[in-house]
Amino acid sequence: MTRIGILGATGSIGTQALEVIRRLRGSGFELEVVALAAGRRVVELCRAAVEFSVALVSLRGPEEARKAKDLLPSHVEVLYGQEGLEAIARHPEVDLVLNAVVGATGLRATLAALSAGKRVALANKESLVIGGHLVMELVRDPDQLIPVDSEHSALWQAMKGVSREEVEKLWITASGGAFRDLPPEGLAHVTPQQALSHPTWRMGPRITVDSATLVNKGFEVIEAHWLFGMPYERIGVLLHPQSLVHGLVELVDGNMLAVISEPDMRIPIQYALTYPRHRPPPARRLELGGKTLEFGEVPRDRYPAFSVVVQAGKEGGAAPAAINAADEELVAAFLAERIPFTAIAEGLAYILERHPNIPRPTLEEIEDVDGWAREEVRRWMRARFGPTIA
Ligand code: MG
Repeated sequence: MTRIGILGATGSIGTQALEVIRRLRGSGFELEVVALAAGRRVVELCRAAVEFSVALVSLRGPEEARKAKDLLPSHVEVLYGQEGLEAIARHPEVDLVLNAVVGATGLRATLAALSAGKRVALANKESLVIGGHLVMELVRDPDQLIPVDSEHSALWQAMKGVSREEVEKLWITASGGAFRDLPPEGLAHVTPQQALSHPTWRMGPRITVDSATLVNKGFEVIEAHWLFGMPYERIGVLLHPQSLVHGLVELVDGNMLAVISEPDMRIPIQYALTYPRHRPPPARRLELGGKTLEFGEVPRDRYPAFSVVVQAGKEGGAAPAAINAADEELVAAFLAERIPFTAIAEGLAYILERHPNIPRPTLEEIEDVDGWAREEVRRWMRARFGPTIA
C-alpha cells in the first residue's frame, strides 16, 4: 500500500487525482490518502478528508484552519500555511507526495519532500521552472521525481528503456491555446472569457491563459531541461492542434518514439501515482482510427511570450523566477480586465531586460527576485496603462 499526501487537493489536478484514486480501488493497486492540503476551499477539502479518512490536513491560513476544525472529526490534525505544506511533505507516514500546488510556494514543499526521501509526483511547475537546480540536486534516485505534466509524462515513458546517449532530441507538443486560429492583429482585443476556453485540455485559469500565450510551453521547455538534463538546443516544440501526441523522443538513428493518448490529465496523473506500472485506464481509450495528426512549427509572431520564456530559461539563474512572478501578476491583471492580452508578452519582455540575474540563486534569493519582479511589473503596468491598473 502506497501512502500519499496531496498538496493542492481541491484544484484541477488534485480533484482529478482523487478521482483516479477512487477508481483504482479494487484494481490490485491501492493508494491510501494520508494527508490533504488546500488553500481556501475549506468545505471541499473537509469533504475529501472525511471520505478518505485522512489523518492530517492543511489550509491556507489560521482562519481556514479554524473553519476546518469545526467541520472535521477531532482526531484529524489541522495545520496551515507553508509550514503545513512542508509538514505533509515530510510526514513519516507519507511515501508519495503529489505536489499540485499552484505557484512559487510549491517549490519549498518539493524541496522538503525530496530531502525527506519521499517520492514526488510533480505537478507544480514552479518547482522546476524557478528552482530546477535546487530540486535536481536533491534527487538521489532517478525514479524519485515523477512528472505529472502530460508532455513530460510522455517523454518519461518514451525514455524508458532508452539510454541517454541514444537520444538526439526531445519534442513536446503545444495545442496552440485558445487563439491559435486568430490573426495576430486580433489578439489585442480578446477577452479573459475567450482566453479561458481551451480547445483541448481542461485546466485551471492561470495555466489556460498561459497556454494561450504559450508561456506554459516555455515553462515546459525549462522543466524538460532540468528533468531530463537536456540542453535547450535539443528540446523542440511542435504545434499539434489535436493534443493527442504529447511528447516525442527522437533517437540518434532517426527513429522517433511518441506517446499518444486522449488529452485527459487523469492519464498522466494516474501514471505518476502508479509508476512504474501501467494500470486500467482512468479515462476513455483513444480511438486512433479516422483521426488526423497535424504538426507545425511555432509561429513566433503569434506567440511572442514563448521566446521570452525560453530565453529566460537559457539565461538561467534567477531569470525564470522573475519571469514566472511577472507572468502571475500579468495574467491576474488580464483576467481582471485591467490590461489587454498582448500586454502579457510585453510585460515579460520588459522584466527579462531589467531583472538582476543571479547565477545559482539560493531559495531566499529566488524569493527576493520573485518579489522584485512583481513590484517592477506592477510599476510597469501603472506606467503603461494608468495609475489605477495594478
Ligand atoms: Mg502540459
